[in-house]
Amino acid sequence: MTLSHATRVDVRVIGDARLLAGLELGRADRHRHLSTHGAQPELTREDYTKLSEAVGLRGRGGAAFPVALKLADLPTRGIEAVVVNGSESEPVSRKDRLLLTLAPHLVLDGATGLARALGAPHVLIAVHDMEAAMSVREALMERNDGLAIEVTDTPGRFVAGEARAVLSALDGGLAIPPGRRVLPTRKGYHRRPTLLSNVETFAQLAVLARLGAKRFSSTGLISEPGTQLLTIDGAVQRPGVIETPIGVPLEAVLRFAGAEAGPVLLGGYHGRWLPHGGGVVLKRPEVSAGIILALGTDTCPLGEVHRVSQWLASQSAGQCGPCVFGLASLVDDFDRLAKGDPSGWHDAQRHLGLVPGRGACAHPDGSARFLASALEVFGEDVRLHLAGGGCGRQVRGVLPVPGGSW
Ligand code: SF4
Repeated sequence: MTLSHATRVDVRVIGDARLLAGLELGRADRHRHLSTHGAQPELTREDYTKLSEAVGLRGRGGAAFPVALKLADLPTRGIEAVVVNGSESEPVSRKDRLLLTLAPHLVLDGATGLARALGAPHVLIAVHDMEAAMSVREALMERNDGLAIEVTDTPGRFVAGEARAVLSALDGGLAIPPGRRVLPTRKGYHRRPTLLSNVETFAQLAVLARLGAKRFSSTGLISEPGTQLLTIDGAVQRPGVIETPIGVPLEAVLRFAGAEAGPVLLGGYHGRWLPHGGGVVLKRPEVSAGIILALGTDTCPLGEVHRVSQWLASQSAGQCGPCVFGLASLVDDFDRLAKGDPSGWHDAQRHLGLVPGRGACAHPDGSARFLASALEVFGEDVRLHLAGGGCGRQVRGVLPVPGGSW
């Protein structure tokens, strides 16, 4: 099935379609949504908590935080808002904009059902994609939820998708994480208790509310039942979004997408490199926001990583020294390393030890994880570069970087 022109991805399913059910014909309007999924049952807060706990539902952004724990952390009264984080700032990820574009009513069912159960008067949908925003606004005209629902455009920077950056933007501030760690469940929208989660999480809640825990658990792992959306890109014949049972082997997904052999990046630009796709099952937290990038064997891995490191450094919000200076230093280290300078390797090792755990958000930690795992997995390439001759391959730009020209 091919999406509309503006989204330009193919949608495929391994196993049963749940979130993507009925989308063969494109965007599901209210009528087609209801004929595919049926009406959304009205559940209580206790129902949502029990269901989420029973199936071990985890958030489908990057942090994979258990939904039941998030619900338990909210006060019993005075919850201000439910926030749908659709900012999807990982450059490769497309699953959330796909859901908002093609299945807006499923996401809205999850968010509004939970808002009513929590007594929250506001539902806010933060989105960084014009087509997705239009689709949600169109869907809102087809329904009446009795809540104040707003669709807000958020900036496209990487850290703008961080939960507290989204809340800052929704409150009229800058879309950057505040310099202190505050839980949205305590101080969120309007500095009041807020339930914020990723777009896919709300779609999963809408499916869970309809199926109940037993039917929801008929696929996936015993420890983590259900399905997941994955975005696959890079050296593959068929890039796009795939719905799979949780626990599907990575090899099966790579084969399905026609991936070339070679290293695989799991979890996006805050994720980890694997030397190949063998022996890994796809589940949280390892799969993070569901991004899989196949590198292939035709490009220079160190050059690719250096290119992404430049982009990661450019995405720092510029307020924490270890992030601003540490990431800039790492860009320089990887540049020298790729040119065969041994001091680049030594300095990278030193800086990778200094950067993590010292920023106000997870950006430096995630960037360091990505770079450190590259040095491990591409050890042979590092040796070739340090021997002076490089690895003999061009940097082809297999790893997508916003604004890159390849
Ligand atoms: S760690 Fe970096 S991205 Fe995060 S808030 Fe600090 S400067 Fe901004």
